[in-house]
Amino acid sequence: MKRKIVLHFSREIWDKPIIYRLIKDFNLILNILKANVLPRRESFMVLEIEGSDNDCRKGFEYLKECGVTIEPIEQNIRRDEEKCTHCGACTAICPTGALSIKRETMEVVFFSEMCSGCELCVPACPPRAMEVHIE
Ligand code: SF4
Ligand code: SF4
Repeated sequence: MKRKIVLHFSREIWDKPIIYRLIKDFNLILNILKANVLPRRESFMVLEIEGSDNDCRKGFEYLKECGVTIEPIEQNIRRDEEKCTHCGACTAICPTGALSIKRETMEVVFFSEMCSGCELCVPACPPRAMEVHIE
């Protein structure tokens, strides 16, 4: 199992060796794609996590016990409606059909519930309307 997730750390746990334990105790391979960790502040980390279903499940349970909030990355893909020009470039590469053309109006519609979080649309969008939005 390989998936991208966003972890949110409260200010109380920002300095705990949680990521170290996740790798060492749960046999998981982690690739940190983005992180914003500041002393005594709420922090976040975008990770690609790889391991067996069982190890991932145990790792997620451990994270929850530590008070870390876990979000699948697809919940963080947004479209800036003001920037979107409905050019259609993203519809050719979106593998799930989350971005598709509404034939009646030729508008490009974004069905966020169909998004897998692959992020292919982010660099493909000329005006950069597709964003990974993490707070
Ligand atoms: S590529 Fe960007 S601007 Fe073009 S339709 Fe898709 S989201 Fe809108
Ligand atoms: S992140 Fe992937 S699945 Fe989601 S809208 Fe973009 S291309 Fe489609």
